Amino acid sequence: MLILECPYCGVKAEETELSPGYEAHLKRFGPGSSDEDFENYMFARKNPKGVHFERWRHSYGCGKWFLAARDTATLEVFGTYPAQSNEPPEELQAKIKAKRPDWKGWK
Ligand SMILES: [Zn+2]
Repeated sequence: MLILECPYCGVKAEETELSPGYEAHLKRFGPGSSDEDFENYMFARKNPKGVHFERWRHSYGCGKWFLAARDTATLEVFGTYPAQSNEPPEELQAKIKAKRPDWKGWK
């Protein structure tokens, strides 16, 4: 079972307490953007085998959204951080790089 620590209330929440919000750090495109950019924003999602960044909501806890980094193949969780982050914290990126030397970065 997937267990993620909520960065707001500190609870180690089981998957049944959480709601998935899918891919994190999406760049949003709206009016004035090209059709291709808007289509990619609306429909194209990464589905990597390995390191992935996701949005989760602590639905049956504090109710807040947060972000998580985990490995989709092994289910290893690297860490969680606040949803307002524009990019994964430096220390989290360093932790992932140490565990997955072939990881090419979060973008
Ligand atoms: Zn919480």
